[in-house]
Amino acid sequence: MKLSIDNLHPGILTILGVPSDENSSFLRGAALAPEKIRQALHSPSSNLGTENGMDLGEELRLRDLGDLAFEHGCPELEQIEPQVRPILQQGARIIALGGDHAITFPLVQAHQKVYPTLNILHLDAHPDLYDEFEGSRTSHACPFARIMEQGLAKRLVQVGIRTLNDHLRQQAVRFGVEIVEMRAWQPDMHLEFSEPVYLSLDLDVLDPAFAPGVSHHEPGGLSTREVIRLLQNLRAQVIGADIVEYNPLRDLNGVTAMAAAKLLKEIAALMFRS
Ligand code: MN
Ligand code: MN
Repeated sequence: MKLSIDNLHPGILTILGVPSDENSSFLRGAALAPEKIRQALHSPSSNLGTENGMDLGEELRLRDLGDLAFEHGCPELEQIEPQVRPILQQGARIIALGGDHAITFPLVQAHQKVYPTLNILHLDAHPDLYDEFEGSRTSHACPFARIMEQGLAKRLVQVGIRTLNDHLRQQAVRFGVEIVEMRAWQPDMHLEFSEPVYLSLDLDVLDPAFAPGVSHHEPGGLSTREVIRLLQNLRAQVIGADIVEYNPLRDLNGVTAMAAAKLLKEIAALMFRS
């Protein structure tokens, strides 16, 4: 879908596809995700209602801006922030559809310019805090190291983590990351933030039973309902979000696309509430 960013009014909530997977370490495929998530969102098998009773299908509630375009010959990551910043500067808010998790670094760069005291809530099986991974510092295993090095977030809270090794623990200490490991997770958590929050949702935070369409299957994760409850219990002003790491090439009957679309609707409800 072609990008269209004209006539945005302040406060409008938008969907933006970011079809980039060139920084994936294991499998490609996440670049195919935005279109598949859109199809699931508009599938006649469901509707555009949120659980708190909002109809996202009402005119002007939620505008789809299409996908960012990338020029060949230049790293895709470097092309994201310059395209996203003008959208935010018009006062629009964005739910970005990845793409792999590497896109979160330039997305946060753009948001931090508009919201200087940004906090981040990051849901993931992995902390993505590697200093470098397999020779790359832009790998989808590294974005939160880049974000914290540049001081782009005053507070980073990670939930669902179940893959910490010694290096990642050291990085978490170095950057003061607050980690709710999966083994310590409680079903009725109420997370609270006093500054504007950017929400980054890696779909592999879900157990592979609920979301098989991801590149890195990490058993022992959250259920779809547990993530929804966490969102509904969140006390925060959410000013931007991404949903990343959906890999249609690994999905089964589109169930992960539907999970992504469901979570998109609940994130939209949360952002309208803020
Ligand atoms: Mn991730
Ligand atoms: Mn992950």
